Amino acid sequence: MKKIENYINGEYSTPIENRWIDNYNPSTGEIYSLLPNSSVTDVQMAYEAAKTAFPSWSTTSLQHRSDILAKIASLIIENLELLANAEAIDNGKPLSLATSVDIPRASSNFDFFAHAITQFASEAHESMGQNAINFTLRNPIGVVGCISPWNLPLYLFTWKIAPALAAGNTVVAKPSEITPMTAYLLGDICTKAGLPKGVLNIVHGLGNTTGQAIIEHPDIKAISFTGGTATGAHIAKTAAPMFKKLSLELGGKNPNLIFADCDYEKMLTTTLRSSFANQGQICLCGSRIFIERTIYDQFKKDFIKKTKALKIGEPLNKETNIGALVSKSHLEKVKSYIDIAEQEGGTILYGGDYITVKGYENGYYLQPTIIEVTDSNCRLTQEEIFGPVVTIMPFDTDDQALSLANNVRYGLSATIWTNNLNRSMYLAKHIQAGIIWINTWMMRDLRTPFGGVKDSGIGREGGFEALRFFTEPKNVCIHY
Ligand code: NAD
Repeated sequence: MKKIENYINGEYSTPIENRWIDNYNPSTGEIYSLLPNSSVTDVQMAYEAAKTAFPSWSTTSLQHRSDILAKIASLIIENLELLANAEAIDNGKPLSLATSVDIPRASSNFDFFAHAITQFASEAHESMGQNAINFTLRNPIGVVGCISPWNLPLYLFTWKIAPALAAGNTVVAKPSEITPMTAYLLGDICTKAGLPKGVLNIVHGLGNTTGQAIIEHPDIKAISFTGGTATGAHIAKTAAPMFKKLSLELGGKNPNLIFADCDYEKMLTTTLRSSFANQGQICLCGSRIFIERTIYDQFKKDFIKKTKALKIGEPLNKETNIGALVSKSHLEKVKSYIDIAEQEGGTILYGGDYITVKGYENGYYLQPTIIEVTDSNCRLTQEEIFGPVVTIMPFDTDDQALSLANNVRYGLSATIWTNNLNRSMYLAKHIQAGIIWINTWMMRDLRTPFGGVKDSGIGREGGFEALRFFTEPKNVCIHY
């Protein structure tokens, strides 16, 4: 059985207590590898390595740092096939998605921050009349912690690591225990790229042991976390007495507002993607669809037809649009929401059941599911399901659409489909979310701030926002 290992001080190593966790292949339901169940001691070893590496890495030339990150980016692309296969097997996502989105984006994350750091400028203020000038140093924090989820494993892991390293920090990172494989493979790539020993340390393990050891470590002064809202709240509570800097990218329950005056075909194709891409397991998926009543019936008919045509199957099959859900427990959690549809006043318009894929009978497959609801306060439209399940509901006026969009505890993203500029600007301004898409979805520019409001988190990733997070500003005032 393949054993995934920790990557500490530039070398692969087994966990000190020799405890292991089963890693399942979601398409077969079988255990296919083991990963370390790392202890506090393993985390401490990773911390020590990072601490030792910090003085040299934080003072190395910007160009050298940038070159190494760019090299990691190019090695990720050189290993695209290996990494995409590993991601599809580990996570259950279609290979086509891993090949076209996840792995190229992991490479772009390094490439982007390799260049962004060379453009990251400090502020200076001349204090007129006081004969003084102030400037702000942006020092790296030291050893920082990066903790990521399973839905976009390498994509989100590197989205944190790349800016942390670019800014001169050294890192103790933990990928999700459900999808550890590509983070494991990244260690070797970093070594080959010439990343000095101890600059990046990857410890595998459970959240409440390995992850907990990272967030409780008194000398890991910043934590960048992406995951569930409940975990985020727990991290915030744990970190508060130690005054750790926190970036929390949490859950979402994003509205997709569709107006009759939109570009209908483009909206329909994109809505299919924003509903079911990655089996609906993207924090940005538009799981609450609200449609202007005049096109509601037409939309229902067309959306169901398009959903029916999606090919559900084994992730490595090139024809597959929808792969397996990530784990058995997650599959059951998602299905349990479908099961309460009726008692919550919903009607299942399409899907709603498990699927058996021939040859993969124990895999975690679920039909893409469309549920019509009549009340946006029901659990299906209030709670994050995080699977291939969307609710649909009609609305009549712009203000009603706005109030439906905001009637939720989350505030990550929102999508608006309309060709009316005034309407889209009014909604963009008033929807409570960190990211708004108008007539598109998940179109990303890595320079832009990424993150949510309300229970979707605090802080922003992306561009200089990420570099600001991973540095500590220090003002210097000179009187002359
Ligand atoms: P999760 O919160 O269960 O786990 C995320 C990570 O935190 C994992 O590595 C886990 O091991 C670790 N963890 C768990 N308990 C911990 C603890 N006590 N201390 C330290 N670390 C701990 O989330 P998940 O199920 O892996 O991911 C799904 C969630 O992530 C969804 O809610 C989704 O919306 C969210 N998400 C958000 C974004 C975003 O950018 N806002 C992106 C992707 C996913």
